[in-house]
Amino acid sequence: MVRFFFMKNQLAEIVFATNNLHKLEEARALAAGKMKILSLSDINCHDDIPETADTLEGNALIKARWVKEKYGYDCFADDTGLMVDALDGAPGVYSARFAGPQCNANDNIALLLEKLKEVADRKARFVTVIALVKDGEEHLFTGKVEGTIATEPHGTEGFGYDPVFIAEESGLPFAEMSQQDKNAISHRGRAMRQLIDFLK
Ligand code: IMP
Repeated sequence: MVRFFFMKNQLAEIVFATNNLHKLEEARALAAGKMKILSLSDINCHDDIPETADTLEGNALIKARWVKEKYGYDCFADDTGLMVDALDGAPGVYSARFAGPQCNANDNIALLLEKLKEVADRKARFVTVIALVKDGEEHLFTGKVEGTIATEPHGTEGFGYDPVFIAEESGLPFAEMSQQDKNAISHRGRAMRQLIDFLK
């Protein structure tokens, strides 16, 4: 008897060291058909991974190394900062905890708008650094997007500072853009495309 074996095209798997479902969705949309992105819960990692570095590169590396060392998976991690010119680059690497350790995105936005209340120069940029730990090597990919900080929140899409970040290229707050349109120009979209090209 002749047997035919059909090999299904298996996508390579890689862990994205994040618990942020918005980031996972964005990354999975960009990687669709190219690689399979596993979340931390997919590998049963429920650790509170420390982010103790004072640079985006440092924090991204801590997270990716943690997963590789403790769980053995090839892994990438991102760290993102919102750099506001009038605030000398703040909140920057401290963007998640801008209004305090227990605060949420609305608190961070409220503090940002308060600090910029009388400020005319509202130029800002998002920067994402992705660290990849794979095959005993480490690689970094950086993506940036220029924009301005709105005077009040707009839109319901996305997460974090999206309601107050108006991207230069679209003229729209990220929270008024579809995920696909945001991914096309965003800091994370740009860093992710470099990662995907590298892994291809
Ligand atoms: P982290 O990379 O998760 O540490 O993000 C730092 C801070 O920036 C958090 O407050 C996030 O909510 C925010 N942030 C990260 N990426 C984005 C984004 O794409 N849009 C808006 N806010 C973001």
